Amino acid sequence: MNIVLFGMPGSGKGTQANFIKIKYNLTHISTGDVFRENIKNNTKLGKLAKSYLDSGKLVPDKLTIKLLEKKIEENIDSKGYIFDGFPRTIDQGIHLDNFLLKKHLKINLTISLEVDKLILIDRILKRGLESRRIDDQSESKIEKRFEEYNQKTSILKEFYARQNKFFSINGQGSINEVKNRLIMLIDKHKNDWR
Ligand code: ADP
Repeated sequence: MNIVLFGMPGSGKGTQANFIKIKYNLTHISTGDVFRENIKNNTKLGKLAKSYLDSGKLVPDKLTIKLLEKKIEENIDSKGYIFDGFPRTIDQGIHLDNFLLKKHLKINLTISLEVDKLILIDRILKRGLESRRIDDQSESKIEKRFEEYNQKTSILKEFYARQNKFFSINGQGSINEVKNRLIMLIDKHKNDWR
């Protein structure tokens, strides 16, 4: 079972992916987390990615795709994956499909967490107080990330809708409420893939 979680920055992808991975025994792949880990450890990848993350821009596809492939290869025996923050461009989406196909795998379900923009800004600024994430620190950086999402990522909804794999849920309410909506949706579709 392979799931893609979509949503604007702050929509709760990471939080929800952490529940879903445990419930369905999936490997959680968050490209944002991997980039941040590399920046923290000052690796070559971290050095290349840092300026993009700090300014709220997407990291170039070539770099991101390479990293994604490495993560899948490292967990190739997994029962399935939950992708959080990947794909974020059409090229990444096409690449992911082709890469999975070579491994006789495919994306089963893509789910978008829909949250009102004002709520998102509020959530991100609050998170920024604790996370110290540079990209969470100012409204202009948050705006830049929204812009990237609207220009490059949201088009993927159509890409997956054409494959009949796209669904969206209300990402507002308590963490638990959103979790239950997600679980209901996944359980409803689970049997299609058996
Ligand atoms: P959020 O969704 O809250 O912005 P993420 O951790 O998913 O947080 O992403 C943080 C940053 O990491 C992005 O703004 C971007 O710079 C980089 N990033 C993460 N995933 C990708 C991706 N698939 N393609 C390009 N850049 C990415």
